[in-house]
Amino acid sequence: AKPSPFFHTPPATEADALAILHLKRDSLLPITLRATADDGYAEGAVTNTRFGSFPHSTLIGLDWGSQVRASKVDTGTRGRKGKQKQQRDQDQDDSNAAAGCADGSTKKRKSDEASLTDDISGAPAKKLKQLADGTQQLPTAAKAPIEAGSGFVHILPPTPESWTSSLDHRTQVVYTPDYSYILQRLRVRPGSAIIEAGAGSGSFTHAAARAVYNGYPGSSTSKKRKLGKVYSYEYHEPRVQTLRQEIHDHGLDSIVELTHRDVCNEGFETPEAPSPPKADAIFLDLPAPWLALKHLTRSSPGSPLNPSAAVHLCTFSPCIEQVISTVSFLRKNNWTEINMFEIQHKRLDVRRERVGLKEEGLRGVNASAATVDEAVQRLREVETKLSDFHANKDVANGRTSGKEKKIQSKAERLEKIRQDVEGRKLYKEGNLVQRTEPEVKTHTSYLVFAILPGAWTEVDEQACAEKWPVGD
Ligand code: SAM
Repeated sequence: AKPSPFFHTPPATEADALAILHLKRDSLLPITLRATADDGYAEGAVTNTRFGSFPHSTLIGLDWGSQVRASKVDTGTRGRKGKQKQQRDQDQDDSNAAAGCADGSTKKRKSDEASLTDDISGAPAKKLKQLADGTQQLPTAAKAPIEAGSGFVHILPPTPESWTSSLDHRTQVVYTPDYSYILQRLRVRPGSAIIEAGAGSGSFTHAAARAVYNGYPGSSTSKKRKLGKVYSYEYHEPRVQTLRQEIHDHGLDSIVELTHRDVCNEGFETPEAPSPPKADAIFLDLPAPWLALKHLTRSSPGSPLNPSAAVHLCTFSPCIEQVISTVSFLRKNNWTEINMFEIQHKRLDVRRERVGLKEEGLRGVNASAATVDEAVQRLREVETKLSDFHANKDVANGRTSGKEKKIQSKAERLEKIRQDVEGRKLYKEGNLVQRTEPEVKTHTSYLVFAILPGAWTEVDEQACAEKWPVGD
């Protein structure tokens, strides 16, 4: 099977690989890197963003995490047809050259190389070296500079986290803070079988696929290990089709089995499947989970549950009324350890901040530009002012005018700052402070967890009695 880019990241970005462009915080864009554009356009595929245009030729062959500057050349959003003609002419020239005009061809290639090197001066050295080696195809028509590259992006490998932040939302999705907690509470691990409904946009599906991944069928390790599986169900056909394509494109076909099904009415049994899922874990992100739960019992002949182990469940519901109906069903149907959680995810903004500089008395020191030396210098000045003040007070025999009272209270505040600064270790970069972000994402959904204990039959009891006989 084709290795999934979510589990096996190539050492550097390569053609036809899935990559995530990190435009800015909370703005990520998934792209498939193409060495050539589908329409044969000379410059290869181009991704246009609000931070500029990025020809894929400048994105291939980079270390993951590289910063890439926007192209300084016309990347074809304008005059594409003209460029295509230019490319056809170029192809013609090249084939002429191949037919004998070797000199002309070499000159042309060199001049293109020079102009391109100028044009992508923001590209990392590795890329430029590849261009110089000739191992990278030259976008021969990319010559006319129009405007300076306006921005940059970082190129990241795909992960379930970056996929969640960048995927095309067809529905509400489960975000990383929720699914990381859910998967560990469900004890999902390599080799687990998990049932998921509804699949929606596939955000949870990708995280679950990574959690269960334990090698591919037919691989050398597959004989020794139990392979993990995500049994995913969705009743909205267009969503099924889109997700199925993504699962295929992401090399997850052997790990995720997506079924088009209304699980509330039709249940989870798949008569056509070679064997029932034998799920160890269940995740339900549905409007009425209790309707699906009635099909998740051990009693039915084709039960999709693991018959010999406890099954862990999580339902994900935005409203408390849904929680009440779910919990009521679970109580009446042998589920145990039922409890509900809510993830209150807060992002902490942690940074270094100059000490005491904003306070009165040190106002003259620019907090952002201040160095510790500056701060210490100002503190010395404060100390001098303080001792002058006390000396003057002595002279005035303890009588303090209104103005002097003002000076005194300022001096006291300054003294407090001095003591505060002295008590702390000064870092050149400032002290570490933390704040919660102003825009806090709070409620997403209520998470109901429960466990269905493993089935225990007369045969199990007998075996147990033989193994551990009760003494007389
Ligand atoms: N967990 C998904 C994710 O992380 O991308 C999002 C799920 S979305 C909120 C809920 C999905 O459940 C929708 O796509 C909806 O079509 C599907 N759904 C609702 N009722 C269903 C049912 N009875 N059977 C199967 N799918 C159902």
